[in-house]
Amino acid sequence: MSLVIYNTLSREKEPFAPLDASNVRLYVCGPTVYDYVHIGNARPVVAFDVLYRLLKRRYPRVTYVRNITDIDDKIMTRALENKEPIEQLTERTAAAYQSDMARLGALPPDVEPRATQYVGEMIALIERLIERGHAYAAEGHVLFSVPSMDDYGRLSRRSRDELIAGARVDVAPYKRDPADFVLWKPSTEAQAGWVSPWGRGRPGWHIECSAMSAAHLGETFDIHAGGLDLIFPHHENEIAQSRSAFGHAIMAKYWMHNGFLNISGEKMSKSLGNFFTVHELLDQYPGEAIRLLLLSAHYRQPLDFTHEGLTQAKATLDRWYGALRGKELKSVPVSASVEEALADDLNTPQAISAVHQLRDPSELKAGAGALGLLQQDAEVWFRWMPAAAAGGPSDAEIEAAIAARQAARKARDFKESDRIRDDLKAKGVILEDGPKGTTWKRG
Ligand code: AMP
Ligand code: ZN
Repeated sequence: MSLVIYNTLSREKEPFAPLDASNVRLYVCGPTVYDYVHIGNARPVVAFDVLYRLLKRRYPRVTYVRNITDIDDKIMTRALENKEPIEQLTERTAAAYQSDMARLGALPPDVEPRATQYVGEMIALIERLIERGHAYAAEGHVLFSVPSMDDYGRLSRRSRDELIAGARVDVAPYKRDPADFVLWKPSTEAQAGWVSPWGRGRPGWHIECSAMSAAHLGETFDIHAGGLDLIFPHHENEIAQSRSAFGHAIMAKYWMHNGFLNISGEKMSKSLGNFFTVHELLDQYPGEAIRLLLLSAHYRQPLDFTHEGLTQAKATLDRWYGALRGKELKSVPVSASVEEALADDLNTPQAISAVHQLRDPSELKAGAGALGLLQQDAEVWFRWMPAAAAGGPSDAEIEAAIAARQAARKARDFKESDRIRDDLKAKGVILEDGPKGTTWKRG
C-alpha cells in the first residue's frame, strides 16, 4: 500500500518518496486573519489534516507548518474600519480560527508561524534575490524579475503571453517587465511598516511563505499544499523566489491543490458574499458533521455545499456513534480497506464507504479515526445541541429527570414516568431504554 499523490507540477499521480524519510516536511498556506474563515477555507485544512494523519502513521517524524498571514492590506483596511489596532484584530481572528479548526477535528500543525515575526527573514531573502540578479529596487518597491528565471510558469503552465495578459491591468511604471511581481512595497506613515534597505515598507504576500517555509522546513521540502486558486500567482511566485534565492531545481517536491467548495455551482468566496463562516455553522451543526461533509468528495473535485449535506452527514455520524455506544472499544490498527483508499491520493469518499462496511465497533472507530472522525465519546456526541437550543434542559437537568423517571417506574407510577419522558421529548431530548439502563440524545 504505497502512498501515491497527484502532483500539480507533473499533472500526474506519483509514488510518494520523501527527501528525508526520517523527517517528512509539509507546508500548507494558511489564512489571512481579518475575519472568520468560511467553510471553503476549511477545506484545505481538513483535507491536508487527513494527509498529516496518514503521514504520521507511516513515518517516524512529520513536520507540518501552516502559516498565519497577519499583515496584509485587507487586514489594515479592516482594522481602520473597526477602529482597532491591527494586533488586536489579528490576535482575535487567529484565536477564533484555531478554535474553529480544532472543532473540525483538525490537529494543530507542528509550527504555526506568523508573518510579522519573519520580516527580518523576508528582507534577507529579498536582498539575496537582488544580489543574484533576480530582483531590483524601484521607487521604494522591490520587484522580482520574471525574465531572470528561465522556467518561470512551470507550475501553472501559463505561457508568457498569458502572464502578460494577466498582469496588464495594473502595469506600474516602475516595473521593468509587466509580469514582474512585488516583493516589498512602501508604507505611508499611517500604514503598518518596517524599516528596510528600501525605506519603510511591508512585504508582498508571496515572499512570506518562501521565508517561513525556509525557516522551518529548509530550502527544499516534500509537500506544499493549498487551494486551487493559489497555483497562480501565489505558488508560482513562491517557487520563483525560493528557487532563485537558493539555487535549487525545486522548492517542494510535490504540490497538492484542493478543488473548490461551491455553493449553487459557484466558488464560495468572501468577495461574492455567498459564504457561510465555520463559526456560524458550528452553532447549527457539530464540527464533526462539517468535517464529514468536507471529506465526502475527493479533495481535488469540486464539492457543493448544502444544508441537506450537513444534515445527512450528521445522520451518518448518529448511526456510527450509535454502533459504538456502550461498547468496549479496543485499540486496533486502521483497516486495510481504509488505508488503501487513503493511500490512493487521499480518496476520502472511498475511505468513507470502506468505513461503512466495518462491522466491528473497534475497527469502525479506528477506520473512522484515519479520517479524524468518531474520536469523541459517543455519549458526548449525543449530547451536542445547536446554539438555538441552548435555553433547553442542561445535561444535569436531563440526568435528574431520568433519575426521577426511574424512581417513578420503580414505584409503578407509569403515568408519571411517561409524563417525564414526554416532557423531555417536547424539549428535544429522546430517551432510549436499553439493557444497561436509559441513554439519551438531543434529537
Ligand atoms: P484565502 O484566505 O483566500 O487565501 O484562502 C485560504 C485557503 O482557502 C487557500 O488555500 C485557498 O485556496 C482556500 N480556499 C478559498 N476559497 C475556497 C473555496 N471556495 N473552496 C476551497 N478552498 C478555498
Ligand atoms: Zn503561501
